[in-house]
Amino acid sequence: QSLTDDVDSGAATMALPQSDERRWSDTSAYARKKILQSWIQLPNGNWELGKILTSSGEESVISLPEGKVLKVISETLVPANPDILDGVDDLMQLSYLNEPSVLYNLNYRYNQDMIYTKAGPVLVAVNPFKEVPLYGNRYIEAYRKRSNESPHVYAIADTAIREMIRDEVNQSIIISGESGAGKTETAKIAMQYLAALGGGSGIEYEILKTNPILEAFGNAKTLRNDNSSRFGKLIEIHFSESGKISGAQVQTFLLEKGKGHIIYFINFVLGLHLHLEEALDIVHVSKEDQESVFAMLAAVLWLGNVSFTVIDNENHVEPVEDESLSTVAKLIGCDINELKLSLSKRNMRVGKDTIVQKLTLPQAIDARDALAKSVYSCLFDWLVEQINKSLAVGKRRTGRSISILDIYGFESFDKNSFEQFCINYANERLQQHFNRHLFKLEQEEYIQDGIDWTRVDFEDNQDCLSLFEKKPLGLLSLLDEESTFPNGTDLTLANKLKQHLQTNSCFRGDRGKLFTVVHYAGEVTYETTGFLEKNRDLLHLDSIQLLSSCSCHLPQAFASSMLIQSEKPVTGPLYKAGGADSQRLSVATKFKSQLFQLMQRLGNTTPHFIRCIKPNNVQSPGLYEQGLVLQQLRCCGVLEVVRISRSGFPTRMSHQKFARRYGFLLVENIADKDPLSVSVAILHQFNILPEMYQVGYTKLFFRTGQIGVLEDTRNRTL
Ligand code: ADP
Ligand code: MG
Repeated sequence: QSLTDDVDSGAATMALPQSDERRWSDTSAYARKKILQSWIQLPNGNWELGKILTSSGEESVISLPEGKVLKVISETLVPANPDILDGVDDLMQLSYLNEPSVLYNLNYRYNQDMIYTKAGPVLVAVNPFKEVPLYGNRYIEAYRKRSNESPHVYAIADTAIREMIRDEVNQSIIISGESGAGKTETAKIAMQYLAALGGGSGIEYEILKTNPILEAFGNAKTLRNDNSSRFGKLIEIHFSESGKISGAQVQTFLLEKGKGHIIYFINFVLGLHLHLEEALDIVHVSKEDQESVFAMLAAVLWLGNVSFTVIDNENHVEPVEDESLSTVAKLIGCDINELKLSLSKRNMRVGKDTIVQKLTLPQAIDARDALAKSVYSCLFDWLVEQINKSLAVGKRRTGRSISILDIYGFESFDKNSFEQFCINYANERLQQHFNRHLFKLEQEEYIQDGIDWTRVDFEDNQDCLSLFEKKPLGLLSLLDEESTFPNGTDLTLANKLKQHLQTNSCFRGDRGKLFTVVHYAGEVTYETTGFLEKNRDLLHLDSIQLLSSCSCHLPQAFASSMLIQSEKPVTGPLYKAGGADSQRLSVATKFKSQLFQLMQRLGNTTPHFIRCIKPNNVQSPGLYEQGLVLQQLRCCGVLEVVRISRSGFPTRMSHQKFARRYGFLLVENIADKDPLSVSVAILHQFNILPEMYQVGYTKLFFRTGQIGVLEDTRNRTL
């Protein structure tokens, strides 16, 4: 008689959430184990807890809380944990670790404002959308003294500081989640703790002030999509040898300039820039520069209002000479006619000659938006540069650092485009980083307790990463190759991918422009529409020319930085920019090299992971939507973490505790024996198979679900 179904079913629930067939491969096991409570999925998709009245293999009768009694097919039931495990602060403590149990546990805690829960080494933070009494000096003090041990961002930050000092190794705190899940808030809370413990020089206030600046700019929204503009942010906080903060460095990446959208500074419009001014003061941006910054922002806004009128019977257009146009010209300090020209004509080089092409309405709108986006992203980069100058106080980097990474999590929408493609690729890399770290942690614990860790089978997502990165036949290479073909289209790209990757187990070619990638967090179907254009991100030489002709110093600086960027020595495929001589790297290639740099930096640190969860889409306190949370748990890899951990021997109990807890169930009275002998006797009496456990020097290590059986027997006996 085998109990392996227990392990398999648990794993299958985690790995293949959509597939029911492997969930309970042996239904009679259900009856045999006499599980008392169970989850049943209601037609609306939510899970409800029921008591099992009778179970005859195929069918079970269960009663629901409101008195309803249902006859259900046993294999649709998912076992629930005994009440004693309600609200445990680490999901790994659950005997039955399945999706409804995890959802329930988080919800149970959330209802009591316990927004933090551990999932093994990961901290899960559920956004409360209200003030919760968990922060401030009293709490900081409690975590510093370790008198409070419940999961918290402070606890993570505290561990990071301690390990930095103890091991003399740099640390990182990696925060991910969807938009609005609480990443930036969480990063601030972590920084608060670091500032409280390592503060004193005053530099910590400057570091905290970088948040509103970057938020004000990074949170720029587009007219079409609230979430379109985003960036990843890495703040590296430097500590001196005495453990005091000595400086910091900010790196932003992946700032998305969604093409064809007008960037719309909602924060700016709302007048939040008043706060911004104060923050800019603190990081030493001069008043004069601040004025230029606001002028540039205003220019981008006004640009969005520039409209066009048809001037000939070939549908060529030129901008309307109105307040918008003249204000833009005034703000950036250029001649209004120059501006008009750059928005209505394009210079093209053919051989040695330059020909001037008149623009049609869509081309003119594109030129206008490209100018706005160039100014915006240059401004953002410029601000980051100023911040870094101001924070680079301790230039001698003798000490150690703690980096906080605030980055978008895995995304899967109905329609997924180039942005999701990049973000999910990045998350695939981060996940591998995570897996390997987890593996190392586990391995250390096994070795310490004398356990044979070769029996632990860890999964890796290398196959999916290879699908992206392999040369020449990987997603990124093929995308870059197609981008260099002038006649390449979204459809030829899709066909090329299908032609070369069809046999890859992580890839599936779908109809038309669709293809599917099997990511660690689930399958995502991408549509190649816009891939080539977004990947080429052609440099608009006309924009550069215009900006360099401006009398204000910021636009001039922007023009030269754009030129420098385009002239950088490069190692990837190059694109002719707008028919001109200038060449540049593809977006995907730049993205990959940024990602590799990031991974290299993180690789030299001890990582700590925080996954933020948004419990509802309406920013409302107390509202916990199961479906939404579940989808994020899958995407953030929380269930994956748990699954990976459970592929080893995740349940651990000391010999003493095990003997105390289950010793009384022994038929033979050996209560006077040592805890190890009692433990072994229990294992034998309950027929726990040798492959289901290992005996360590101090602890017993179990595969998933084994303790659950003992626990149920204990409850029935008591
Ligand atoms: P993200 O950076 O992931 O997009 P934010 O950190 O900006 O999300 O959080 C969105 C909003 O959620 C915040 O403005 C705040 O109102 C709320 N929020 C997030 N975390 C907390 C928290 N720990 N306590 C209270 N409110 C929070
Ligand atoms: Mg944010």
